[in-house]
Amino acid sequence: MSTVQSLVKGWCPDLFAPMQAADGLLVRIRPWFGRLSVVQAESVAELAQRFGNGVIELTNRANLQLRGFSPDGARAALQIAISEGLVCADPAHERRRALLVSPLAGLDPDCHEQTATCAGLLQDRILDADDLEALPGKFGFSVDGGGWFPVGALSADIMLQACPAGWKVVLGDAQSQPLAMEAAVAGAVSVALGCITLGSVGDGKVLRPSRTPEAGPQLLQQAGFQVCPREHTPLFRPPAVGSLPGQVFGLGAVMGRLTAEAFLECVHAVQDAGHDGFRVTPWRSLIVPEPIRDMQEFVTDAGDPRLRVQACIGPMGCVRAGADVGHAALFLAPEVPRGEVLHVSGCIKGCAHPGAASMTLIAQQGDYDVVCHGRTTDRPNWTHQTLVQVKTLLRTELKDFAS
Ligand code: SF4
Repeated sequence: MSTVQSLVKGWCPDLFAPMQAADGLLVRIRPWFGRLSVVQAESVAELAQRFGNGVIELTNRANLQLRGFSPDGARAALQIAISEGLVCADPAHERRRALLVSPLAGLDPDCHEQTATCAGLLQDRILDADDLEALPGKFGFSVDGGGWFPVGALSADIMLQACPAGWKVVLGDAQSQPLAMEAAVAGAVSVALGCITLGSVGDGKVLRPSRTPEAGPQLLQQAGFQVCPREHTPLFRPPAVGSLPGQVFGLGAVMGRLTAEAFLECVHAVQDAGHDGFRVTPWRSLIVPEPIRDMQEFVTDAGDPRLRVQACIGPMGCVRAGADVGHAALFLAPEVPRGEVLHVSGCIKGCAHPGAASMTLIAQQGDYDVVCHGRTTDRPNWTHQTLVQVKTLLRTELKDFAS
């Protein structure tokens, strides 16, 4: 049986280094700070239609994933993406852009007012630090200003989190004392260097605090910080669709998947309303400046049960998939209670939802192993369940927890 480690690829597929999938080459584009101008968004749709299979996926890192590229198509798309400012011209810089920012920064009055500035400063420092070239593309940073999307919701290897007295550097099981913004940014860079150094004396791989949380205290100490126990926040996440603070509006994509046509329809609606861009959230939605309803494919009702399910691409795009998980997820969605999440995974890797879900299904050649309140790698509570049996489990197990 495969382990997750054996399935994890060593890089994050960008336009410099696409990944082979069953439906062609797969690439990810990282909108700077989760924002896209109308011109950039049109360009993304064009790349998907002209060189890919016309599908645009919103990922849980607020990236845009395009599929079905040929090697020549990926090369041509790279040049266009660089010219539109979607991708850095230097691949070493592009690898250091895994930075998540609170999507309502500057809009939500409860999100720390320095959030966007802090993110800009951190990104600049990371790009300037050539010593960080060894960081893998998957090594993630986040700047979490709190507010509607609470502090702690944006997981990463190194987080800067707003607190009443400033910012904390958070990694693994530990966090620093409150710091001024500039000191926190410098601290994040210095801890990232520590991850490279500490990894080089271990197995030679860069240490990732999200995977080795027990290393957090040592890394903070080496960077000269006080070590405080990390305050874990509840998993509750408010909806990212419908009306949101800051008088903006969230448009959800069912399981993160859109056609380029639907994406373009949204772009043109934003443009027609006199705005120059929109934002992408890590909760598979777009944030537009004013309500836009009745658009094909998008979900605008936060109560829509399809927003409670997650599934990977399945056999259409991955040879490892043990079932048509997207179809299964939509079949089961009406049974998932409000506030709960069902993750249907094609295999143990759990690409669509790496964390814990209320219920997780792992496809096993025709039926499913089921984990309650855990992730794909946890020991299943039930094995070899049919979809009809899972339906019953959803009714009995999740309704019990919800009540
Ligand atoms: S979780 Fe899905 S997409 Fe990821 S490797 Fe497994 S089958 Fe493929």
